Amino acid sequence: MTRADELADALEGVRARIALACDKAGRDPAEITLIAVTKTRPASDVRLLAGLGVTDVGENRDQEAGAKAAECRDLPLTWHFVGRLQTNKVKSVLRYASVVHSVDRPRLVTALSAEAVERPEPVRCLVQVSLDPPEADGRGGARAEDVPALAEAIAQAPGLELGGVMAVAPLGEDPGPAFARLAELAAAIRADHPEARIVSAGMSGDLDEAIACGATHVRIGTALLGGRRAIVG
Ligand SMILES: *Cc1c(COP(=O)(O)O)cnc(C)c1O
Repeated sequence: MTRADELADALEGVRARIALACDKAGRDPAEITLIAVTKTRPASDVRLLAGLGVTDVGENRDQEAGAKAAECRDLPLTWHFVGRLQTNKVKSVLRYASVVHSVDRPRLVTALSAEAVERPEPVRCLVQVSLDPPEADGRGGARAEDVPALAEAIAQAPGLELGGVMAVAPLGEDPGPAFARLAELAAAIRADHPEARIVSAGMSGDLDEAIACGATHVRIGTALLGGRRAIVG
């Protein structure tokens, strides 16, 4: 089986899972954007996925993503940055990413805005929400109580557009209740910012629960691309 066939099969499987989850939740699959998380995978995979109709790709490390995006410059893709973002990497990330899912602190809003005003298109930003218990060694994300102020800061920042919220399910906990908390926060933000409709939640292991809780964007790596491996170089 060629890599193209492998990816086509996996894509069909993921699309079927999305359709089934939507069916159960009484939602329209057209409401869901599939983001292929291509970290650790070569640009050739991105190219094959684009050929299969994938329009959105996600990456979590700037160095790797920048090189891959440059190789795929000719493809009509939207690049999403989904990883922890250091302020000194903002300039580089905004060369290719038009959506940043991991805005989790005010300083990052300031840095993104300063760079975004130099660009023709606004940069869409999502507030990354931590769904981990407060004492957990978090994997990034703002605490729930800090989310409204961060959303407001993005909405007010020149060059930025508040897109909504993003989260990763907590480790070792049922993702359902965690995604339900995310949905509540998302609704609270939409009350003040109706345009902030994105709920980025759901990965290979929990996309069904995420869709049940209103996810609009699912970020799928291993279910599409197989196990991750390190890229050499
Ligand atoms: C790697 C990654 C994903 C994809 O995870 P899979 O379990 O491989 O589907 C989604 N979101 C973020 C933030 C990631 O880092």
